Amino acid sequence: MILLDRVSKSYSKKSDSTALERISLHIEPKEFVIIVGPSGAGKSTLLKLLTREEKPTTGKIIVGGIDYEHLKDKDVPRLRRRIGVVFQDFKLLPNKTVFENVAFALEIIGISTKEIKHTVPRVLDIVGLKGKEKSMPMELSGGERQRVAIARAIVRQPKILIADEPTGNLDPKHAWDVIRVLEKINRFGTTVLLTTHNQDIVNKLKRRVITIEGGKVTSDHSGGTYRA
Ligand code: ADP
Repeated sequence: MILLDRVSKSYSKKSDSTALERISLHIEPKEFVIIVGPSGAGKSTLLKLLTREEKPTTGKIIVGGIDYEHLKDKDVPRLRRRIGVVFQDFKLLPNKTVFENVAFALEIIGISTKEIKHTVPRVLDIVGLKGKEKSMPMELSGGERQRVAIARAIVRQPKILIADEPTGNLDPKHAWDVIRVLEKINRFGTTVLLTTHNQDIVNKLKRRVITIEGGKVTSDHSGGTYRA
C-alpha cells in the first residue's frame, strides 16, 4: 500500500539540512501506524511527501500502486482523493454548518445533491455526530470539531487517512473520542497514519510505532510503547 525506498528530502542544497535521510518503510493495507518523534524530526515532511505537497530529493515512493516518479501534476488531485488528511487545528469553514463542511468535500468533485444528502448523514453517524448537522463549528467542542474534520476527510472513502497531531488541541476525554473514531475507521478497512506526542495514546493503542529522529527511522515495532 505505502512503500518508501531510501527516501531523502532536503529543503535546501546545504548537505547539513536534510529533513529526511534514506527512509525506507513498508506499510500494509489496513494497518494502523503511529509515527512519533521530537519536533523537527521530519514527521510532517514524511506526510507531505505522501500527499505530494513536497517531492523527495531522492528515493522512491509508491502509494496504492502509484509510483510518484511518474505522477503528473494533473493526476495529483486524483491521488489526494485517495488520501484523507486531518490536522491539529481542524481547518473547518467557520461560516458553514457541520453538514455543509462535510458536503463541500463532495460538491467540489461534482457529486450530485441527492448523493450528498444520502452520504453525509451516514458519515456523521460514523463519527458520532448524528443530530449535529445544523450546528456551526463555533458551537461545538474541540473534540466534536475534530470529528467533523474526520468526517470531511473520509467522506470520499479514501484508502488512507493521515491524522497529523489530531489530538494536539484536545483534553484527554475528547482526545480519546477522536482516537476511537480513528480506530473505527481503521476497522472499516482504511489505513491510518497517526502522528502524536501523547504518550498515553501510544502506550494504550498497542499498534505499530515508527519513531523518527533527526530525519531517520530509529525504531519500528508493533504493539509498541513510546520511548520519550
Ligand atoms: P516534525 O513534523 O517532526 O516536527 P518537520 O518535517 O516539520 O518535522 O521538519 C523536519 C526538518 O525540516 C526541520 O529541520 C524543519 O526545520 C525543516 N523544514 C520543514 N519544512 C520546511 C520548509 N518548508 N522549508 C525549509 N525547511 C523545512
